[in-house]
Amino acid sequence: TNYDNVVYSFEELNLKPEILRGIFGNGFETPSSIQQRAIMPIIEARDVLAQAQSGTGKTATFAISALQRIDAEEKATQALILAPTRELALQIQKVVMVLGLHLNVTVHASIGGTPTRNDIEAFKSGVQIVVGTPGRVYDMIHRRFFRTDKVKMFILDEADEMLSSGFKEQIYNIFTLLPETTQVVLLSATMPADVLEVTTKFMRNPVRILVKKDELTLEGIKQFYINVEQEQYKFDCLCDLYDSISVTQTVIFCNTRRKVEYLTEELRNKDFTVSAIHADLSQTERDTIMKEFRTGSSRILISTDLLARGIDVQQVSLVINYDLPSNKENYIHRIGRGGRFGRKGIAINFVTDNDVGAMREIEKFYSTQIVEMPASIESLF
Ligand code: ADP
Ligand code: MG
Repeated sequence: TNYDNVVYSFEELNLKPEILRGIFGNGFETPSSIQQRAIMPIIEARDVLAQAQSGTGKTATFAISALQRIDAEEKATQALILAPTRELALQIQKVVMVLGLHLNVTVHASIGGTPTRNDIEAFKSGVQIVVGTPGRVYDMIHRRFFRTDKVKMFILDEADEMLSSGFKEQIYNIFTLLPETTQVVLLSATMPADVLEVTTKFMRNPVRILVKKDELTLEGIKQFYINVEQEQYKFDCLCDLYDSISVTQTVIFCNTRRKVEYLTEELRNKDFTVSAIHADLSQTERDTIMKEFRTGSSRILISTDLLARGIDVQQVSLVINYDLPSNKENYIHRIGRGGRFGRKGIAINFVTDNDVGAMREIEKFYSTQIVEMPASIESLF
C-alpha cells in the first residue's frame, strides 16, 4: 500500500493538546520526515512498517502515536512496545514519559535484570503503556500479571532484530497472546528482505514506508578506515588516536565480550579513562555505566553490539569499529550512534588485511564510501 499523506507540522496531526505541549516542551519544532509520514497512519490504527535512517526520530514517531491512541480513563495496558535491549527499553520509556508529561498516562519499563515485584505492582495498578524486553514481558503475560485483553498496539522497535533468529520465537509467542485486532507497528533503520517477507505473515495490509539501501548511510557521518594490517597492531593504533578522540564522546565497538574486557583493561593499564558495557555485567552495573555516559562523566564507552542499536546520546560524534561488525545491518546501526538527528559524526573502522574484503562489501552494499583515514583528524571535528 502506498501512503502518500505527508503532514508538515505537529499541529496538523490533530493531537491531544497535552501531547502537543509535551512535543514543544521537549524542544521539537517540526516533525522529521518519518514523523511526517508515519504518525498519521499509526494514529489511524493502521498496521505500519516504518523504515528510516538512524537518528531521524523513530522513537517519537511511535511514542506520540501511542500517547494519542491511549484512552486515559482505561486503567489497563493498551500499548506494548518491545525493544531488543534493556538499555533501549529504558531509553524509550523515558521518551514516552517526557512527551506524555502533560497527559495522565502511565508508562512502565518491564525488563530483565530488575525485581519482578516492580512489574507486578505496575501491572496491578493497570499501567497503560509497557515498554519491555521480550523475556520479561513474556514471563509477565505467562504468569497472568500482564493482562493483554486491552492491548491495542504492538510496537516493535529495531523490528528486524526482533524478528531475527534470537528473538523471533519469543516475539511470536507474545504476539499470539494479544487480541487478534491488535495493531502492529514495526520500525527499524534496516529491513532486510527476509524480514520484510515474514512481516507479511502477521501484518494486515500494512502501510509500508521504506528506504533504499543506498540511501541508508547519512551524509553527516564521515566514514574512514585504518588498515592496521594485523590484529595485534590495533591497540597501538587506538592509543595513537586517543588524544584526538578525547575531545568528544566516543563509542568503541568490539565483537565479543572478552574483547571488550581485554581492551578496557589494556587501556586502563595505560592510564586511559574508559568505561565498558556488555551483557555479562549485572543490570545495576549496566545502569550505572549508561548513566555515566549519558551525563558525560565518562567520555569513552567500549561495548559489544549491546549498544549497536537505538541508543541515543547526542554528544557522541565518534564511533570506532575496533572490530568490523559481522553483519551489514549492524554496521549501519553502529555508525548511527553518532550523528544523531542531523548532527555531524565520524566513524573509523579498524581493518586488518583480512577485513578489507568485507569492508569493501559493506561499502558496495550501501553504495557509500569508506575512505582511508587522513593523518590528522583534529580538523574533522
Ligand atoms: P531513531 O530511532 O530514528 O534512530 P531517535 O528516535 O532515537 O532516532 O531520535 C534521534 C534524536 O532526534 C533524539 O535525540 C530525539 O530527541 C531527536 N528528535 C526526534 N524527533 C525530533 C524532532 N522532530 N525535532 C528535533 N529533534 C528530534
Ligand atoms: Mg531508534
